[in-house]
Amino acid sequence: MYVYLVLFAVLSYLVCIKYIYNRQWHALRSSLKRTFNVSSERKTVGADVRALVVTAHPDDECMFFAPTIIRLVELNASVHLLCLSEGNYYHQGSLRREELLRSCAVLGIPASRVTVINHEKLPDDPKAEWSVSLISSAVLRHITDHCINMVLTFDGRGVSGHANHVAIYKAVRHLASTGELPKDCVLFALETVGLLRKYTSVLDLPFSWFLPSHFHCVVGPKGYKQAKVSLRVNRFAHKTRHIVFLDSHTLLVLCDMNMH
Ligand SMILES: [Zn+2]
Repeated sequence: MYVYLVLFAVLSYLVCIKYIYNRQWHALRSSLKRTFNVSSERKTVGADVRALVVTAHPDDECMFFAPTIIRLVELNASVHLLCLSEGNYYHQGSLRREELLRSCAVLGIPASRVTVINHEKLPDDPKAEWSVSLISSAVLRHITDHCINMVLTFDGRGVSGHANHVAIYKAVRHLASTGELPKDCVLFALETVGLLRKYTSVLDLPFSWFLPSHFHCVVGPKGYKQAKVSLRVNRFAHKTRHIVFLDSHTLLVLCDMNMH
């Protein structure tokens, strides 16, 4: 009897996951259509989206934003990446820059849409206080140059709590609060979740689905493989502390984005 109950619970859970996976693709498109005022009659929405993912270090793109990037690329959105440092904490900046380009290629962002800033006032260092005005002017320039209408970055807790991640959020919020952003540009922040939800991967999926979020990006087996390859390409991340902080919530399965 006990075995049947367990079997029933597992099967029910798999059905639930399958239902969410099938629904999320439609939900993501509807949410983007609403955001960009695209007629619900139109089947495509991606061509209207020019997204900019703003990160602090090489490997942030695959550890935290992989599902979002993969899904947006699948929707034919133009996805750009602005990385605000070379990730030179261990004096491996040039290697990490190359790894970032390879990782982005795996995720579907061509090198021509990847910009890495190497500025002495933006060092890869959790103890360094990054200048809000410096970041916001770099982000704004990028938005203007590439006619960006969607900016995605960390939230106020930085997902992993890294001070450089949090600084980007403050700068982007600053841009929004001072009205410097183009009117058609929307901001999304990747939601930081607690440790339990971070590392329970697909077990967290139903909770994330039913909790409020502007949109969820859930990848299937193909996207999962893609995200894993992009992480593997970041060999430096594998060799250092970052591997300890692998975040299954954002890395491989799911990103929850909230509008700001
Ligand atoms: Zn980082």
